[in-house]
Amino acid sequence: MPEPVLDALRGLGISPGRAAGRVHKMAGPPLLPAPVAVADTGVETARAVRGLESAAGELTARAEGAAEPAAREILEAQAMIAADPLLRESVEQRVAAGSDAAHAIDAACAEHREALLAAGGYFAERASDLDDIKNRAVAAVLGLPMPGLPAPGHPFVLAADDLAPADTVNLDPGVVVALVTEKGGPTSHTAILARALGIPAVVACPGVMSIADGTWSSVDGGTGEVRAGIDEQTAAEVERSARAARDRLATATGPGRTADGHPVKLLLNIGSVADIPAGSPAEGVGLFRSEFLFLDRRTAPTHQEQTGAYEAVLRAFPEATVVIRTLDAGTDKPLPFLGLPEELNPALGVRGLRVSRRSPEVLDAQLDALAEAARASGTSPWVMAPMVTTPGEAADFARRARARGLADVGVMVEVPAAALHAHRLLDELDFLSIGTNDLSQYTFASDRQHGELADLLDPWQPALLQLIAQCAEAGRAAGKPVGVCGEAAADPLLATVLVGLGVTSLSMSARSVPAVRDALARHTLDQCREHARLALAAADPGAARAAVREAAAA
Ligand code: PEP
Ligand code: MG
Repeated sequence: MPEPVLDALRGLGISPGRAAGRVHKMAGPPLLPAPVAVADTGVETARAVRGLESAAGELTARAEGAAEPAAREILEAQAMIAADPLLRESVEQRVAAGSDAAHAIDAACAEHREALLAAGGYFAERASDLDDIKNRAVAAVLGLPMPGLPAPGHPFVLAADDLAPADTVNLDPGVVVALVTEKGGPTSHTAILARALGIPAVVACPGVMSIADGTWSSVDGGTGEVRAGIDEQTAAEVERSARAARDRLATATGPGRTADGHPVKLLLNIGSVADIPAGSPAEGVGLFRSEFLFLDRRTAPTHQEQTGAYEAVLRAFPEATVVIRTLDAGTDKPLPFLGLPEELNPALGVRGLRVSRRSPEVLDAQLDALAEAARASGTSPWVMAPMVTTPGEAADFARRARARGLADVGVMVEVPAAALHAHRLLDELDFLSIGTNDLSQYTFASDRQHGELADLLDPWQPALLQLIAQCAEAGRAAGKPVGVCGEAAADPLLATVLVGLGVTSLSMSARSVPAVRDALARHTLDQCREHARLALAAADPGAARAAVREAAAA
């Protein structure tokens, strides 16, 4: 007899798929309590040393378990720093001078950190490792859970208050079967990475941090439902049926079309050629985020470097559509080499295409490299600019691209002004691609990373769908393609709505393609249009989802 479900939580499902496992929480850094007087320095020194040893031991164990050589090296280096005799000596001296173990570790790590920074070069790069070591050693001393990714030694459901992209990028889908965060929004880059890794994920799920570690739970990354307190047998059943569903989807291939054969191109969102899987399930690339080439750089990549990167992507799909987006800088994608000044409201400042107001040479160099890559590969890439607001900006971008022989020029619709004037933009362009992540952010005046505002950023918001409908209608009238490359395209049920609104292509991470293909194949174009009508008429995202889900089930 299965045990009763103790807790049914609900958040926003942002990476479809079901999974079950034991929940393990990601603990935040420990807070230092007020200093305490030390009664016995011998005992306190032993506590402090044990804290350092357990941090070093933990890091060594993680290094041994790391699948990626690069991750293993980083962890081994961290473990060595934690075991450094100089660090230990510094801690012992501080305890001898009257400090309690936690404060002695905190101060010694701070001193060590400064020394590494002063040494410069490779040593300075290791300085931030000291924070992690300090947090682990202090947590051990205080008897608090180890901060960072849990390592329970078996696959698990990761629960966290929120996750930085750096936490998500290292997740192993073989170990973390699902992730659930208390905060976070549907269009944050963490959500994008979870989808790219194919990990079912739910964000903005209140109460998840109250689930006790080790509790068997199931997660539905489509509906956003989290059931905590299921029994092990039910968990195994969820895993079995999720595997069967994945296998069924993986065997379906071919171009995207509705049940009655209406074609809808299914394309890939990529950051580099490495994101295109062998035997890709998609029909081309709908969004190459070229800024990933420029991230973390002090100088712009050279012409050869850029040409090589674009050519590699173009050669991966020589016969198909490949849409390359020019540099999208600013806010959540800082590009140090541009030397942009700090802004009070960076999301509303000089970002995306606007960067070329200050540095037109960066865009021109990129277009030159792209034109050369097209010649070298004998292909005809589509090129588009991010964050375009007015028809004037679109015309200027089109002129610069066409002057270099790039024939198919478009822009992303990410700003409501662009959606409202989609027909005027199309006078200048060959296609539009709707970036629903930023279009949500700017339509609902809500930072896309802001967990508390996740409901406003829900891509099922009828007002967002209204703007998409307007763009699709402009495309239909002009006889030009209008695609969606924001995260909305990766939601299988919403994909039917977008097609019903008149969208001609959907672009997403490779892992999302099979489920979207399956959803389209199960509905006729008329059914998709009915889904679109229901969603547009709904009062809010919840009602829109419910109405379309009901129609789809019928
Ligand atoms: C978008 O804004 O929807 C988009 C696809 O661009 P990015 O997520 O890279 O900002
Ligand atoms: Mg965007």
